[in-house]
Amino acid sequence: MNKEIKRIAVFTSGGDAPGMNAAVRAVVRTAAYYNLHVYGIYGGYEGMINGNIKRLEKGDVANIIQHGGTFLKTARSLEFKTEEGRALAYDSLMAHDIDACVAIGGDGTYTGANVFTQSYDVPFIGLPGTIDNDIYGTDFTIGYDTAINTAVEAMDKIRDTAHSHNRLFFVEVMGRHAGYIALNTGIGTGARYTFLPEVDNPLEHLVQLLQKSSKRNKLFNLVVVAEGNKSGDAMTIAQKMKEEYDIDSKVTIIGHLQRGGSPTAFDRVLSSRLGYSAVKSLMEGKQNVALGLVDNKISFTTFADAISKKKTIDADLIKMSEILSI
Ligand code: ATP
Repeated sequence: MNKEIKRIAVFTSGGDAPGMNAAVRAVVRTAAYYNLHVYGIYGGYEGMINGNIKRLEKGDVANIIQHGGTFLKTARSLEFKTEEGRALAYDSLMAHDIDACVAIGGDGTYTGANVFTQSYDVPFIGLPGTIDNDIYGTDFTIGYDTAINTAVEAMDKIRDTAHSHNRLFFVEVMGRHAGYIALNTGIGTGARYTFLPEVDNPLEHLVQLLQKSSKRNKLFNLVVVAEGNKSGDAMTIAQKMKEEYDIDSKVTIIGHLQRGGSPTAFDRVLSSRLGYSAVKSLMEGKQNVALGLVDNKISFTTFADAISKKKTIDADLIKMSEILSI
């Protein structure tokens, strides 16, 4: 039988993502409603090891739903990857009588939770906090919607210049090894072409498209470049276009702008639903699973599956983005 959960710890880990604060707020408020005590672990697994753990009351999460970043801070902890580090982390949790943890982060954070819960009897629930949307078991991750909206806004601004000067622009977006941000930014801005990690994008293909553009007197072109694509970063692609095809272009790297900023309404609602469901799930005895949203319903995926299975990008969406940019 599962032991009764009375004290929950919550932390954010890995890269920050807009909506993490809203998720923590939802955990704290839901727990308070059900008379559970909540503790915030400051600085991810590093804070767990160092015992940087403080009680959070419902007022401590006032006025944060609209803020990007994470007030609990985040960190990448090498020490947690060691048995000794995880033993220290367990001691810290026990020192605060923590019964269960809510971990908000990406696949690294889930890997840490998976390894930890194999050795220690502390139930974990994972929430997908990463702008990359690359986590198996959820249609959306916390921060992804905000990131694509930021990228779309940036692209709209670049379009003004590209149009005015008849230029070709390469705009590099984040997403690590996944093309979700790039693909949806490309669709949302009507980009001429999108370099994705999931498919081969030979430069000749782009050159042919640009020739078609010029035939129909389209003199400016926006191209989205996913940072993890196989043809190289935006700067490299632009250089090759010049050297191999004598085509001039400009490059913009949106970079960390995509990680920050006030979360969109979608991300606030998603984060709130996930934080609320994390507490309810723990109370119902669920443990060592990652929560997500699939077909607009809360879904549960084991950490092992969330880590090892690969979320596939919708091939039809890629096809659609090509068709719509002819
Ligand atoms: P993002 O997607 O934004 O990078 P992430 O959660 O994948 O987020 P990571 O830095 O990869 O970010 O992982 C967060 C933390 O999880 C690491 O700093 C480390 O403390 C812990 N972690 C990752 N892999 C392991 C592992 N194999 N064993 C134990 N802990 C791990």
